[in-house]
Amino acid sequence: MSKLNLIGKSEKELNDFFYSIGERSYRSKQVLSWLHKKGAVDISLMTDISMQVREKLSNQFCIDIPVPISVHSSADGTQKFLFPVGNDQFIESVYIPEATRATLCISSQVGCAMDCSFCATGYQGFSRNLDANEIMGQFIAVSSYLNSNNLKPISNVVFMGMGEPLTNLTEVVKVTNLLMSDLLYGISRRRVTISTSGVVPNIYKLARETNASLAISLHAANDKLRNELVPINKFYNIEQLLEACNFYAKETKARYITFEYVMLKEINDSLAAANELATLLKNFPAKVNLIPFNPFSESSYQCSDENQINKFCKVLQSKGIFTSIRKTRGDDIDAACGQLAGKVNDRIKNRLGQQKL
Ligand code: SAH
Ligand code: SF4
Repeated sequence: MSKLNLIGKSEKELNDFFYSIGERSYRSKQVLSWLHKKGAVDISLMTDISMQVREKLSNQFCIDIPVPISVHSSADGTQKFLFPVGNDQFIESVYIPEATRATLCISSQVGCAMDCSFCATGYQGFSRNLDANEIMGQFIAVSSYLNSNNLKPISNVVFMGMGEPLTNLTEVVKVTNLLMSDLLYGISRRRVTISTSGVVPNIYKLARETNASLAISLHAANDKLRNELVPINKFYNIEQLLEACNFYAKETKARYITFEYVMLKEINDSLAAANELATLLKNFPAKVNLIPFNPFSESSYQCSDENQINKFCKVLQSKGIFTSIRKTRGDDIDAACGQLAGKVNDRIKNRLGQQKL
């Protein structure tokens, strides 16, 4: 029997294991602390746990931290990590240092089934969900690399790498809870962001399991255009999406929800579109983040002109909507939003409608 990877296991899963071998649940906290605070790379190092218990733990579990096969550095300090995930496939994580923080953008799936028309990951199709250990492993591996190279430690985590986090909810929630646990990494809820294309039923589920920050990839203010850009909109339209966001904001007492809006030249960037967006989000606890489109070879979209992005931003601001323009980072190493391609070799066109949501 192959051993299970301890990285990514939740306190509850560890409690169940210790219960099954007649041990008390405080052992789980000890194990989690060894893994996530003391950086143990081997069960034998967990010296405050008896030899006998460590042996039982080792019979079922191992500690397996992924090793990036390449690290690409951008001129702006952004670094892109490529991790193998078996079957000759790869996922990517991106480290983005800024003056006052350092953000890690992590992947939740190998590829993505959502098929958004402007996204390189979507273009590849979907292969599989990542396990919590593979998601948590990205954070641990990058943290250790940063530590060895004297680089600024990670302060923020965004689920904005490859994949749709809300179609891998259970594993994503496990990782979120580890990151936000006061006893472990203690990253505040404002610094852990889950971004979704709008898997509405799972926004309700998410609200019951975490209070992390939520970002919505909106990209259009009407259903006709959003159906084209973000096909999941055909299943759950904008009205249903905003209702779910309202629920999330109330349930988690969030001050606001972030709405991401990719700027596509002559597609969704007119001033009329800005007014439509302002009307849609009026009276909503919203922040808007305008993302300049990052091109990739298979796409024919173009990024809106800088001047147009600024005008679009001003319209929203003049209507009282807190709006910022995302700085593009790491585009010289294809690490910018939507450029993550990793390697999904079978390219099963396993797309929306085929994946169970
Ligand atoms: N699947 C999730 C999270 C990953 S995508 C989601 O869609 O929300 C992270 C963000 O990058 C999303 O807002 C997505 O719409 C945006 N994005 C995708 N492709 C892009 C591109 N080519 N240029 C700029 N942003 C892009
Ligand atoms: Fe998937 Fe997000 Fe890309 Fe859409 S934008 S295809 S949901 S990764």
